[in-house]
Amino acid sequence: MKKLIASIQQNKSITKEELNVLLNTKATDIEQYLFSCARETADNIYGKDIYIRGLIEFTNFCKNNCYYCGLRRDNKSVERYRLNKENILDCCKKGYDLGFRTFVLQGGEDAYFTDEKICSIVSNIKENFPDCAVTLSIGEKEKHSYLEYFKAGADRYLLRHETANNEHYSRLHPAELSLNNRKRCLYDLKEIGYQTGCGFMVGSPYQTIDNLYEDLIFIKELSPHMVGIGPFIPQSATPFKNKSAGSLQTTLRLLAIIRLMNPHVLLPATTALGTIHPKGRELGILAGANVIMPNLSPVNVREKYTLYDNKLCTGKESAEGLNSLKKCINEIGYNIVCARGDFRGENNV
Ligand code: SAM
Ligand code: SF4
Repeated sequence: MKKLIASIQQNKSITKEELNVLLNTKATDIEQYLFSCARETADNIYGKDIYIRGLIEFTNFCKNNCYYCGLRRDNKSVERYRLNKENILDCCKKGYDLGFRTFVLQGGEDAYFTDEKICSIVSNIKENFPDCAVTLSIGEKEKHSYLEYFKAGADRYLLRHETANNEHYSRLHPAELSLNNRKRCLYDLKEIGYQTGCGFMVGSPYQTIDNLYEDLIFIKELSPHMVGIGPFIPQSATPFKNKSAGSLQTTLRLLAIIRLMNPHVLLPATTALGTIHPKGRELGILAGANVIMPNLSPVNVREKYTLYDNKLCTGKESAEGLNSLKKCINEIGYNIVCARGDFRGENNV
């Protein structure tokens, strides 16, 4: 089995059978070997540095109705909020003083934030914090909109593809959303010049190993700069409220496999991973992740960004908890650095 892992590391590819074996093995020594190879791969490129991104959840309004997400438009139990430009700039100032050099503006698909408003927010952040990167994560847009945001100074864009299988996509989303358009967005973003991130939830309802294999193939094909994966966690006001959460073990193994197949990729240990296990973030790093995204949103709105139940938003998870997070990361032999943390490598091969 060690040979199998070495061959994935060397060839940066995996077969469906190999994926099956690695996700199902009960041998903990094999699992540990997988994690250590993934860690070695990341260390060779990024050393012991762990990058932080300040996450600003600036609107929880959403016109979409994804079956898994607590921000879906049919969820009437969520109190909706929007941050204005001044609120957002205050978050950036607080983050900058703490050492953040990347701000991630994330939100539902909220028509209130027209292209003009987004561009004005982005250009204001870049004027005030010229040494910082701005990442947008605001869903599917037309190419001309992505281009406007890019011209305004946005550097990166996160848009998880959610699943690379059409049928699975249609079981996670209503008919008005399509995998084709999601993919079109990702290719547009890359073509414009964004550092682009795709990704998926691990253990989302109806997901099969074949689907995961298609996800890995799609990631190779897109060759993104970032890949965001985290466990699916049910939210009590969604159609998937009674579905099971994704597992820690599968998420960690997939993080490691993604690292081996895409050595240069920026790979976060996500909030969802920290939510399903108290040491989820550290375990994610030890399985090959190299990014953490603490919450920089104003404390009074955090509980309203209810993607899933029991989402962490205080403690080590939050920007205020940065010192305690730094300590935990030091304890596992890594360092949180004050840097933009750009993608290293010309292309992801
Ligand atoms: N609206 C934008 C979008 O969909 O790309 C950005 C915000 S959206 C809330 C960010 C990500 O949250 C989604 O891509 C999805 O993978 C994740 N997410 C939503 N509901 C989730 C859940 N129940 N469990 C885990 N992750 C979830
Ligand atoms: Fe809206 Fe994004 Fe949630 Fe879908 S995942 S409902 S697009 S916030």
